[in-house]
Amino acid sequence: AIEVRDLHKSFGDLEVLKGIDLTVGRGDVVCVIGPSGSGKSTLLRCVNLLAEPTSGTVTVAGTEVTDPDVDIDRVRRRIGMVFQSFNLFPHLTALENLTIAQRRVLRRGKEEAKRIARANLARVGLVDKEQSYPAQLSGGQQQRVAIARALSMDPELMLFDEPTSALDPELVGDVLAVMRSLAQEGMTMLVVTHEMSFAREVADRVVFMDDGVIVEEGTPERVVGDPQHERTRTFLARVL
Ligand code: ATP
Ligand code: MG
Repeated sequence: AIEVRDLHKSFGDLEVLKGIDLTVGRGDVVCVIGPSGSGKSTLLRCVNLLAEPTSGTVTVAGTEVTDPDVDIDRVRRRIGMVFQSFNLFPHLTALENLTIAQRRVLRRGKEEAKRIARANLARVGLVDKEQSYPAQLSGGQQQRVAIARALSMDPELMLFDEPTSALDPELVGDVLAVMRSLAQEGMTMLVVTHEMSFAREVADRVVFMDDGVIVEEGTPERVVGDPQHERTRTFLARVL
């Protein structure tokens, strides 16, 4: 569902991605790990063109998004993105946060949007919070609302950029549980995370990035359990 070919990205003189090749098949969960500044977020941002690649191609669900003629809004609609910060509208309830883009972008009617919103709040375990404002929710609940909001747009795939790293430790588990069940439902997921137990249990493949390149990738058993490269071993020794 995602194909990245020889992707380069520079900011001025700084080359941040130095030729990335990555395939995420339909229904696959791929976790990206690596040190701060290695280019993980930039890679995700190039997939939905929040960042414009310098060269190379990115294909999402059969559409080459790096084609200059592509309708990028259409492509973005098919990609759910969840960030470290939840980016909910503070003046809207949980339910309204889920309906607004459905109505404005997908042109769904009010009742249909509400029905879909409620189904997705149920999916993340928050049926009873639909009238709550973000400030009335814990960080973990806010992040689950953000996931439910992305799901309400019927994405073909989901990108997660360290979705639990801003959360208090006791709130991380609920968010990971939602992500795990999404994976079990067959969602295609590209996940930047430092949660090694999640990567080990849920990922089909783990990608280790350092300094703008993929140093190694493979099954979690291989990459996390038996890394082949010194740089991977050094990184894992710090996070495990
Ligand atoms: P972290 O684990 O800290 O989130 P990361 O692997 O996600 O790190 P990126 O955010 O992709 O790293 O950043 C990679 C490099 O690109 C860094 O050196 C960063 O300073 C630089 N960079 C990222 N975005 C920009 C930008 N918009 N303009 C200039 N430099 C940028
Ligand atoms: Mg990042």
